[in-house]
Amino acid sequence: MSLQTLAGLDRKHWQAVAGAARARIETRLFIDGRFVDAADGGRFVTVNPATGEPLAEMSAGTAVDIDRAVAVARHTFKSGIWSRVAPRQRMEILYRFAALVERDAESLAVLETLAMGKPIADVVGGDLPAVIDTIRYMAECIDKIEGAVTSTESGVMHMVLREPLGVVGAISPWNYPLLMAAWKVAPALAAGNTVVLKPAEQAPLSCLRLAELFVEAGGPPGVFNVVNGLGEVAGKALALHGDVAKITFTGSTEVGKLILQYAGQSNMKQVSLECGGKSPQVFVADVADLDRAVTAAYRGIFSNMGEVCNAGSRLLVDRAICDRFVERFIELGRDAFRPGDPLDPATSMGPLVTREAQQRVLGLIEAGRREGARLQFGGGVPPGMDAGAYVCPTLFTEVRNDMMIARQEIFGPVASVISFNGIEQAIEIANDTIYGLAAGVWTRDIDTAFRLVRGIEAGVIWINCFDEGDMTQPFGGYKQSGHARDKCFDSIKSYTQTKSAWFRLS
Ligand code: NAD
Repeated sequence: MSLQTLAGLDRKHWQAVAGAARARIETRLFIDGRFVDAADGGRFVTVNPATGEPLAEMSAGTAVDIDRAVAVARHTFKSGIWSRVAPRQRMEILYRFAALVERDAESLAVLETLAMGKPIADVVGGDLPAVIDTIRYMAECIDKIEGAVTSTESGVMHMVLREPLGVVGAISPWNYPLLMAAWKVAPALAAGNTVVLKPAEQAPLSCLRLAELFVEAGGPPGVFNVVNGLGEVAGKALALHGDVAKITFTGSTEVGKLILQYAGQSNMKQVSLECGGKSPQVFVADVADLDRAVTAAYRGIFSNMGEVCNAGSRLLVDRAICDRFVERFIELGRDAFRPGDPLDPATSMGPLVTREAQQRVLGLIEAGRREGARLQFGGGVPPGMDAGAYVCPTLFTEVRNDMMIARQEIFGPVASVISFNGIEQAIEIANDTIYGLAAGVWTRDIDTAFRLVRGIEAGVIWINCFDEGDMTQPFGGYKQSGHARDKCFDSIKSYTQTKSAWFRLS
């Protein structure tokens, strides 16, 4: 069924698909092209956050399983059946891989929704098309990776070759389970590496299916392996492993710092980090269309339940338009995202990923109240929805940038309005954070826009829009948001290393 057809299906249909999918959930590890149990038989339970009911008992990989997966990946890399084949051959397999993801979009979508509560309409309309795009784009890049022959004196030829790294360990988060895995795995595979993926324990289901589809597409067994397990067990073992050439990590800043330590404690493997954010959106008084800006503001923080690394959680609003901005935000944004059953295509807001995440977000909302921010709407659990991990869309105003809600990455649907007086102050507040992932700028004046773009410390800045982009756009942060750049052509190059070959000719 095409993605377009899927977008037109109703709740009854998705409930039936979910019922069938639950009965067939694969829970084991995927190593060397086969599903296998964890060596010590350990298991952990994933829970459907919309209902609080257990979803599946997953095999819990440990260091032994990581060892086994890395050994297979290393052997497969050295065999050359993936790393040394003609680029076209890898391209064809990745194109088939993308087509199979599209073919199985329905079952993949439902796994995503069951595991982490993302509204099915968002998975079908957003995540899956982006996953398919990612795999296709990286396939297209494969035969565009070039080395160089540099200028030298006669009697010398100097070539710079680009080679894959070896075994890449990928550690991914749960907020876009398939997409974040694809941003890592697709360029790593495209560049000729083999991969061991450790998906987030909250939502590993779709990643197991992804690896199976790679093999169905003709990918050699052992090239793409998946080891489920807990972060501090399986993730740590992967990051400490001496035969892993690079760890590509997306997750919290806290764990990102541990990954750097593990690399130093082991083999100095390369590390690329995509971490947290506390992104500002700056609304200057001359904004051309206030309602359009306000709409982007509430969408930028309430979509995906606010569980977005680049969520526009700090709304910096010019004092001259602050009252009007807040008024319109309440009018337009209060009911725009209604918590509901994520399997219902009409639902725009599902539960948070776990009960613990819900409690953490509610705790931060309480801290906002305590510190004197003004709660304009939301702030609690939607009535009658206690079984799931729901939190209402929430707006705080009169927030100061030193309050906890302005400093911590809440990772929930909580917006904070902070007013500013003049562009210099806006830049100062925007940069007063450990993070630097993304920002939005709203003004009709090109000079002001440029001043803000140059002044704000962030890896991605949107001007008069928010959270847009395509595969050509480098995505990644400044400061403690990490230093990797996903999505773009540079991303595939970051899974290669250069080798200089200096020939003395006789
Ligand atoms: P997390 O850091 O808790 O977990 C991320 C991954 O790391 C998971 O697979 C987890 O099992 C693993 N992990 C946990 N402890 C580990 C350890 N000691 N050693 C090795 N691996 C370990 O993050 P999360 O809660 O899954 O995801 C949310 C975070 O991810 C947020 O901070 C968000 O901003 C960030 N994120 C960033 C981007 C980006 O592109 N910058 C994208 C999505 C999410």
